[in-house]
Amino acid sequence: MTADAAIHSIREVDSDGTIGLISSEEYPPYARPPLSKGLWTGDEGIEDVDLETSNMNLEMHLNQSVIKIDTDNKKVYDKNKNEYTYQKLLIATGGTPKKLPNIEEEGIIYYRTISDYKKLRDIVDKNENFGIIGGGFIGSEIAAGIKMYKPDAEVTMIFPESGIGALIFPKVLSDFITDYFRQNDVNVLTGESVESIIKEDKTYLVEAQSGKKFKFDTVIAGLGITPNIKLAKEANLEVDDGIIVNKYLQTNDLDIYAAGDVAIYHIPVLNKFIRIEHEDNALMMGEIAGKNMAGKEIPFDHLSMFYSDFFEYGYEAVGILDPKLEIVEDLDESLEEGIIYYLEKGRVKGVLLWNVWDKVDEARGLIAEYGPFSSKDLKGRINILTIH
Ligand SMILES: Cc1cc2nc3c(=O)[nH]c(=O)nc-3n(C[C@H](O)[C@H](O)[C@H](O)COP(=O)(O)OP(=O)(O)OC[C@H]3O[C@@H](n4cnc5c(N)ncnc54)[C@H](O)[C@@H]3O)c2cc1C
Repeated sequence: MTADAAIHSIREVDSDGTIGLISSEEYPPYARPPLSKGLWTGDEGIEDVDLETSNMNLEMHLNQSVIKIDTDNKKVYDKNKNEYTYQKLLIATGGTPKKLPNIEEEGIIYYRTISDYKKLRDIVDKNENFGIIGGGFIGSEIAAGIKMYKPDAEVTMIFPESGIGALIFPKVLSDFITDYFRQNDVNVLTGESVESIIKEDKTYLVEAQSGKKFKFDTVIAGLGITPNIKLAKEANLEVDDGIIVNKYLQTNDLDIYAAGDVAIYHIPVLNKFIRIEHEDNALMMGEIAGKNMAGKEIPFDHLSMFYSDFFEYGYEAVGILDPKLEIVEDLDESLEEGIIYYLEKGRVKGVLLWNVWDKVDEARGLIAEYGPFSSKDLKGRINILTIH
């Protein structure tokens, strides 16, 4: 998604310079968010996810993984020993899904790509019983997606936290969402870590640390990603838990840029180096990286938003969502909508807009203010009254 955004923005600045895209995947760039949402509800079809990169007058090398960057000679090499030269290079390698430790079983779907979607869709049409490991974005969206697509499917979620989204939501909201999934006939097993998975005939036998055992036709895992930094590291680019870039999105080799899920950058308003694994960040970083590669000098200072949807609910959010921060809740009594503020020393660091729409810019404005804010200042500060 980052590469596509960069290609579109290079073309806004430079209509005829040569552009090459090298991707490990067999499909041209596509939008990932619908893979766990609109493609299951029928709101989007598979033809809608293509990002139309191929209209941008470029050379596309699909099914090719880059294995080496030679920064001295400005060349990259793929696994088939093809050699490419560059003047400016963008590393937008995203991340690889984390695997369950010590579990070798091959049929588990670590959900991330369009190929995973096609495979799962085919399986959902045939099978009845699905085990989903992970209670974050991917796990919850896939559970809801399968249930909406096939209401009589048996869907079970297993994860070690106390509720869905517990790593980003305060307990009251995480509990509410967990109950809501249960009301929608998803079996949610909290506080359970998967210890082993063995395939017996056509069934996966899953054993949790507690000793409990479960049987599923299909196992899907959404455990987060590890950023793909190996190439950068081997090329002596500065890395940490991602590739470190300056405000122009350049690495320590100024002709090499990094952006999207793989990049770490400093966000002045949060005073933090951060790596963000979300669409808005990918699109905005890609856009600025592309323009800068084509000769502009635009600093990247966008505070990106993110969102998720499941069943009838959804949210948008900005900044740091960490329930260990000081929390101010401004939720309605039924918990169906409202705002959660995450504060550090009286300053707003993150805002969750729970079933509240079109308020992202106001949330960004609050994060930019120094404060200090108290609970009294924040309650009602973002007006969520809706006109029906
Ligand atoms: C199912 C799903 C649902 C999502 N839903 C949301 C959502 O609702 N809201 C939201 O904000 N975000 C969502 N995201 C996150 C969002 O899609 C990512 O943040 C975004 O795709 C990141 O873009 P990227 O280009 O940095 O990485 P990616 O999209 O992962 O692209 C990286 C590309 O690099 C390729 N690559 C890696 N290594 C090499 C190599 N050595 N050589 C060649 N190619 C290589 C990969 O094959 C891949 O094609 C979702 C993600 C998934 C998987």
